[in-house]
Amino acid sequence: MTDIGSDMIAELETKGVSRRDFIKVCTMAAGAVGLPAWAGEKMAENVEKGRKPSVIWLHFQECTGCTESLLRTSHPDLGSLILDLISVDYHETLAAAAGYQVEAALEKAAHDNKGKYVLVVEGAIPEKDNGIYCRVGGKTAVETVKKYAADAAAVIAIGSCASWGGVPSASPNPTGAVGVGKVLGKTVLTLPGCPANPYNLLGTVLQFATFGTLPKLDEKGRPEFAYKRVIHDDCPRRAHFDNGRFAKQFGDAGHREGWCLYQLGCKGPQTHANCSLLDFCEVPGAWPIGIGHPCVGCTEEGIVFNVPIHTNLPIPNPTAPMAYPGVGPAQGGVGAVAAGVAGLAIGAAIGAGFVASKKLSKDEGK
Ligand code: SF4
Ligand code: SF4
Repeated sequence: MTDIGSDMIAELETKGVSRRDFIKVCTMAAGAVGLPAWAGEKMAENVEKGRKPSVIWLHFQECTGCTESLLRTSHPDLGSLILDLISVDYHETLAAAAGYQVEAALEKAAHDNKGKYVLVVEGAIPEKDNGIYCRVGGKTAVETVKKYAADAAAVIAIGSCASWGGVPSASPNPTGAVGVGKVLGKTVLTLPGCPANPYNLLGTVLQFATFGTLPKLDEKGRPEFAYKRVIHDDCPRRAHFDNGRFAKQFGDAGHREGWCLYQLGCKGPQTHANCSLLDFCEVPGAWPIGIGHPCVGCTEEGIVFNVPIHTNLPIPNPTAPMAYPGVGPAQGGVGAVAAGVAGLAIGAAIGAGFVASKKLSKDEGK
């Protein structure tokens, strides 16, 4: 942990960030990882006490879009607030130094925080021909990531490039680009997305710093809080899908009315991510479907950069949106009336899926 001095809040206030804003961001970060509001307050308390998690951030084959999404927020001061919540001890894009100075800064950050830092990797890693296609400071990306992962308390692959290869791994993958887990030979925490939502990273790092735990992961190393459901489950256009209302061309009447984008190639039904539930950088509607473009499946290996953007994929088992009441008795028992309502909701969801699939097959037959 890095000591930040005694009066962080006063310092933030000089930047126009109130204590209220500070707590709000911590609470949102806690909410992002599925923790209750009190966990956000605990995270804030921890940071106020000077216990900021040390982060070492490495760049390899990438566009720096994940960093940009963390910093270039339109919400005033959110970018700087994020940098106040975590101690980014090494980050090439943010470093004022260059050359030998910046290499020395990396060594120092890793030495001073040995065994305690969170290693965040942005970008794919080329393995072909002994990794010669990405060298920084004379070392290959393979050598660098292995060296700094060895002394890290946790490794996070941010973005689709670092998670499974992303853009650089698109066919024919000339450099043999792969994700961090493949190079290290183990599962690491991955936050795929092109770019990844900054709150997913912030929540994960703050949870680790405050409670010493990482979120529950799926078999691909993705935190379940963000990647358990598909976009389609909670899409704001889902009612149009369920009722068979589809935009057929960009700019047609259905598109202007905000109808479902499935027939324009939307990959939301196959894409695991929380974009429909967590605004990017607190800007409502600032995501592809929000602005009228189909989801391209940027979190999914095998879809984005593989399946053409406007090509349809079959819809796997439709599930009910979160807005519908659940069927499981999550807390306490469930009465006969509640069970009946839930049954009706599931029946409605199944019926809606049936309406949509009938409409789709009719349209496909035209
Ligand atoms: S995942 Fe996308 S936004 Fe992030 S570095 Fe790779 S190409 Fe850029
Ligand atoms: S197909 Fe795409 S636009 Fe339509 S409801 Fe599903 S996720 Fe939303």
